[in-house]
Amino acid sequence: MSFCSDVKNELVSLKLQKCCKPAYIYGFMLFGRSFSTKRISIQTTNENVARAYCELINEVYKIVPVLTVGGNIKPTYKAEIDSEADRLKILASVDYGMGGDTIDSSVFARDCCRNCFIRGAFLACGNINDPEKEYRAEFNVKNEKAADELQSLLARCGIDMHKVRRKSGVQLYTKESAAVEDLLTLMGAGKQTLNIIDTKIMKSIKNNINRARNCDSANISKAVEASIRQRTAIMFLEENDMLYSLPEELLTAALLRKENPSATLKELCILSGEPLTVSGLNHRLNKIIKIYDELKKED
Ligand SMILES: [Zn+2]
Repeated sequence: MSFCSDVKNELVSLKLQKCCKPAYIYGFMLFGRSFSTKRISIQTTNENVARAYCELINEVYKIVPVLTVGGNIKPTYKAEIDSEADRLKILASVDYGMGGDTIDSSVFARDCCRNCFIRGAFLACGNINDPEKEYRAEFNVKNEKAADELQSLLARCGIDMHKVRRKSGVQLYTKESAAVEDLLTLMGAGKQTLNIIDTKIMKSIKNNINRARNCDSANISKAVEASIRQRTAIMFLEENDMLYSLPEELLTAALLRKENPSATLKELCILSGEPLTVSGLNHRLNKIIKIYDELKKED
């Protein structure tokens, strides 16, 4: 299975809050193959994505889309709303407007809903490459106006995408590893994000080794594991709005690690610009993990 289908499978399996459902399915529909009075449909090679689309439309609108399978080499799943009355009902629920190509942002007043809208859009028209080969995430959008609005919505979330015109529409893309990670985190694909970081750390450490050749593989995996544990704790605190209430010395350590996932402790000390020792920094990072472990226990 491809990395992209792993990501999409993870995204469709996430639990949804009630408030987010309309925004999620709206992103899914708007960035699908068509979203108009004539046709509302998506087409995908991922069966789970097609099923999630159908289930959610059924749940939110009590409308059952028609799901068909085609394609010669690879199966292609197509889900479509076949009744015009049903299409009008859906379009009336969002501010479909004149062209139907602008994003009705009143659907996602809350941040959680906005993130789910982006998740839906990604499932409908997004693609992501295997980070072992190349960092790249993209949205392939038919309609340029919708693409522009998605681009500025993502920019407001701190994710900058480039825009390029293609025969079939417009592509928004990024090749920045940090933007790819941020997009995955925003959409809620924590597992894949950590895999990416893992790959990145491995790459960087392997490079260091090729230069120095003085480290055995046990040490490498120890360093990778430690960094992943630290990042997991930091991400958890951030997602639960607790990161910035840490005491300042812990916050500084957390941000240093967050910004530099593959750096060694020694490198982090230098980057900090403070008179920090390796054992001092290690102590702070361990404290963060301890806080995380305790919070998890309470969960
Ligand atoms: Zn919500």
